[in-house]
Amino acid sequence: MKPPWHGILKIPDSRFPGISRAVEKTDVSTPHSVERYTHNWHGSFEGFAPTPAALMSKLPREVPGLRNCHMVGQWTTPGGGIPPAGLDGRNLAIKLCRRDKKLFHTGMPE
Ligand SMILES: Cc1cc2nc3c(=O)[nH]c(=O)nc-3n(C[C@H](O)[C@H](O)[C@H](O)COP(=O)(O)OP(=O)(O)OC[C@H]3O[C@@H](n4cnc5c(N)ncnc54)[C@H](O)[C@@H]3O)c2cc1C
Repeated sequence: MKPPWHGILKIPDSRFPGISRAVEKTDVSTPHSVERYTHNWHGSFEGFAPTPAALMSKLPREVPGLRNCHMVGQWTTPGGGIPPAGLDGRNLAIKLCRRDKKLFHTGMPE
């Protein structure tokens, strides 16, 4: 039986005939790999599926009874991926600055 990635190798082969014969090792990431390496729920690599309902939902970022603990990332900002996770962190920094009466400013690392 051919491995599942056999079909994928046809793509570079169509442009560079025979290149697939030079491939010595392949690895495939599945939701199980994501779960194993990152502990993400159900192996979800970008958090919630971006359904209309998920995109409209607002999720809590604090745990009741746990002071100074804030949650940010792909599970608090539906949309998926690094941009919403980064934006979530930025928005939290703005909120904390406002709370502590500090000026929020951004800059490039030296
Ligand atoms: C293969 C792959 C490709 C991707 N490609 C893209 C892409 O091209 N563009 C894009 O925008 N996004 C991409 N993503 C999605 C993006 O990586 C994630 O959405 C983003 O990293 C989520 O950030 P986060 O801070 O919420 O979570 P994470 O980056 O997953 O950070 C969570 C951290 O918590 C740690 N952790 C977990 N459990 C515990 C625990 N019990 N105690 C302590 N620490 C714990 C984990 O080790 C991890 O370091 C990809 C994801 C994968 C898996």
